[in-house]
Amino acid sequence: MSLDTVANDIKKRLPLREFIQNVTGRDFKGKKAHLCPFCEEKAFKISDKNLVFLCLSCHEGGDIISYVILARKCTYNKAKEFLLAYLVGVQAALKV
Ligand SMILES: [Zn+2]
Repeated sequence: MSLDTVANDIKKRLPLREFIQNVTGRDFKGKKAHLCPFCEEKAFKISDKNLVFLCLSCHEGGDIISYVILARKCTYNKAKEFLLAYLVGVQAALKV
């Protein structure tokens, strides 16, 4: 499997909005602008259709991998490792 296939698989299996809600413990429901996890301004939007986020204040944005890179200040590969581990953890918890 190529690296991009893994990244695409992660994006399909982990809905961005649900993931950000889980890791921040905050509510990101609805289309309105939310408090940005990075700059704390009420300018953070999530697109369920394109699976991307964008802050209209600090201009951070991107897909789930970009989110992890920003939040954990890590590399692309580390972000993917984190998401794979997260995915396995979530699935294991559901099976109990
Ligand atoms: Zn922001």
